[in-house]
Amino acid sequence: MNNSAINILLLDDEQFMLKLLRRMLENLGYTQVSTCDNGHAALELISHPDDCPNLILLDLNMPKMDGLEFVRHLVDQHYIGSLILISGEDERMLLAAEKLARAHKITVLGHLQKPASPEGLASLIKKWAAPLQIEPRAEKKVYDADEVRAAINKGELVNYYQPKVLTSTGRLVGVETLVRWRHPRDGIVFPDQFISVAEAHGLIDDLARAVLTGAFAQFKLWEDTGLMLRLAVNLSMDNLTSLDFPDELAGLAASAGVPPQMVELEVTETRLMEDLRIPLEILTRLRLKRFRLSIDDFGTGNSTLAQLRDLPFDELKIDQSFVHGALENEKLRAMFDSSLGLAKQLGMEVVAEGVEDRADWDFVRKSGCDIAQGYFIARPMPAADLPAWIQSWQKVCPASFNQAHIAIP
Ligand code: C2E
Ligand code: MG
Ligand code: MG
Repeated sequence: MNNSAINILLLDDEQFMLKLLRRMLENLGYTQVSTCDNGHAALELISHPDDCPNLILLDLNMPKMDGLEFVRHLVDQHYIGSLILISGEDERMLLAAEKLARAHKITVLGHLQKPASPEGLASLIKKWAAPLQIEPRAEKKVYDADEVRAAINKGELVNYYQPKVLTSTGRLVGVETLVRWRHPRDGIVFPDQFISVAEAHGLIDDLARAVLTGAFAQFKLWEDTGLMLRLAVNLSMDNLTSLDFPDELAGLAASAGVPPQMVELEVTETRLMEDLRIPLEILTRLRLKRFRLSIDDFGTGNSTLAQLRDLPFDELKIDQSFVHGALENEKLRAMFDSSLGLAKQLGMEVVAEGVEDRADWDFVRKSGCDIAQGYFIARPMPAADLPAWIQSWQKVCPASFNQAHIAIP
């Protein structure tokens, strides 16, 4: 990579550290480096599009505005670059700060303890990549039920698809459908801004119907070009309240010509804590109709062993918070390994979500996990972008070549 492509900002209250880090960066060949000794000056700089850095090295301990507060302002300013955290605090503090920044969807390349070494710095900066596809993120606005209803009715919801690949060969085996709202004024609106509104106002079945109909039609288009892909769709637990749902879903799939074995229904683990009597019947009937069931975001809820044993799931998706960075972090690795072991013992296929960089990819490939999904492999994309992605992925993973066209048994 051309080092001068990265515009780096150093933010630290100690002038000495600023000088030291700047010198280190210059020695590593990074020439576009600016410095600030307080958060307010840095935010001012970031607000100018021409000066906005694409990587910030942030000190956590600063007297006026500390690093955590600064991160909150970055979120408000819709900062889309990356972050490296630097601090004299212990490892657990740095990890907690890293987690917080990630929860705000900021790309964190990692953290360094002071005094930072040139090697440590170089290896983190190497992870930097220009944002692949900058979707014009809309303001975190709250939409009301009428707006969401109108969006569904006007066909403003569009499906993006994120590839899922085998860890063994990199072969593309399926995609996860992730809904977006192409808002006429606000740009692309993400599901966290309208799914809960749909759930709270009785619109979630209409939303699911729109997503499923679009996804099934897309499945057929791929099939026509020889691409047999398993199609994962997210369901809300609120979709699993009507005993007619399995028949309705089976009807939709049959009229689109999509075999249920190729459809994976993802339900998040946190919502499996609720009263399960009716959802359990519905999930079991869906399974009888040969739909595949997947437990999403595993590790974020408190499923008991008995619940897992009694629910007819085919697939378990380990939550991204236990995948990204697991190689270097013992605690994450422990969570990852125990989820993997549990799923394997129950005979489920295991997906690692949140494979964000090469270290994560190498880690999951060695772990024995079956399938991987995450930004390192591909971001969610419109269906039209999939063929170009397949081409580029074959360069990263030559073993995946031509295999995408082989039907899954
Ligand atoms: P999810 O099902 O766990 O989907 C994965 C989320 O992680 C997606 O966010 C995806 O864009 C993001 N992601 C994928 N790879 C990476 C990675 O490497 N790093 C990080 N940090 N994130 C990654 P998205 O699209 O914003 O969706 C958020 C959630 O909204 C989904 O979580 C799912 O629970 C829900 N959702 C999405 N579409 C639908 C839908 O059609 N119906 C329902 N009921 N829920 C949906
Ligand atoms: Mg999902
Ligand atoms: Mg998930």
